[in-house]
Amino acid sequence: MSRAVVSLNSGSSSIKFALFTLGPDGPQHAAAGKLEGIGTAPHLVARDKDGTILIDRNWDDGSGLGHETLLHDLFAWAGDHLPDPDIVAVGHRVVHGGTKFFHPLVVDDALLAGLEALCPLAPLHQPHNLAAIRAIRSLAPDLPQVACFDTAFHHELPEVATRFGLPRALHDKGIRRYGFHGLSYEYIARALREADPVLASRRVIAAHLGNGASLCAMRDCRSVDTTMGFTALDGLMMGTRCGTIDPGVVIHLQTQEGMSATDVEALLYNQSGLLGVSGISSDMRALHKSDDPRAAEAIDLFTLRAAREASALIFSLGGLDGIVFTAGIGENDPVIRAAICERLAWLGIAIDQDANARNAPVISTADSEIVVRVIPTDEERMIAIHTLAALTPAGGQS
Ligand code: AMP
Repeated sequence: MSRAVVSLNSGSSSIKFALFTLGPDGPQHAAAGKLEGIGTAPHLVARDKDGTILIDRNWDDGSGLGHETLLHDLFAWAGDHLPDPDIVAVGHRVVHGGTKFFHPLVVDDALLAGLEALCPLAPLHQPHNLAAIRAIRSLAPDLPQVACFDTAFHHELPEVATRFGLPRALHDKGIRRYGFHGLSYEYIARALREADPVLASRRVIAAHLGNGASLCAMRDCRSVDTTMGFTALDGLMMGTRCGTIDPGVVIHLQTQEGMSATDVEALLYNQSGLLGVSGISSDMRALHKSDDPRAAEAIDLFTLRAAREASALIFSLGGLDGIVFTAGIGENDPVIRAAICERLAWLGIAIDQDANARNAPVISTADSEIVVRVIPTDEERMIAIHTLAALTPAGGQS
């Protein structure tokens, strides 16, 4: 029976998961999948390491099924169908570690209470992360669980970069910049060190461009600045999130447009971004297919915002040596990569169109002044690595 670790990334309406068996070379990817449509029409797809579909299931009339029931079904299926995995731990992506939690930690009652207290800082993400931890606890009370924090990679941001221009008392209450997508950036940093150690030691912007999108300025693979701040709303325009806007807009919506705080929250998180600007879709592929000028404008704004925020990070880095694109759009969309690089052409970036079209690992030309790379992210692997390390501090290879 092979020992295995499960990585869970639990969101409001979906749970991404991956199973890693433990070999002498660390976690080996065995299976992965996604349970989508929680609360509406749950749909589970899982594939083995070769991409063969292991399960493709819909739940009839599943709108009332919550995380706990669906995780129960998922674990029951895994127990019946996966080749004898002896699951030794479950690792979770937890969006917010606040100022206290940054190393991955084995979950106990005190930690759960501490993470619960951070829910107001990430109301749309943290409760779902914790719901998955609780669900596993009720299914398997003795199974160790490890919380891995998305804020952790930015834990060493220079103090001044964590501040808003707000009264100090608010900063002291936790109203400050944290940064997110940390597990993704940590994976990218590791992968970059392997692929290109020279570039990894220099000034790099990692661009995580998916439904959620952010940039991270890294020097020697450490975060020195990032575009998300207090919440995952800040920075780039995203699939349904607005990104940076004038805070006066929020005041105006409430005082002049009669919107409640809840209405504004729904607007900024779920109805804005590519979806709001195009009026068509939050999905970049759908926008590319559309010949509606509003779709073109949404795409244009997406690349404009990305290049503008990147330019601010170049200031934080004092220059730039490389860009790494990752996540759904960053890994797969040559048009968006080219458009962002075109807006940054003043840096001396030159893109190799063939390499870009192939999503090749290096998409800049040999004489480009900036190296531009594409690295597929793997947050689930990062969670597995941390989970093992938290259980066996010597390195998790036991
Ligand atoms: P993620 O949140 O990382 O899963 O990324 C989701 C985003 O990536 C959506 O906007 C998708 O349209 C986009 N995406 C995924 N695959 C592709 C692709 N092959 N080409 C263009 N965009 C893609």
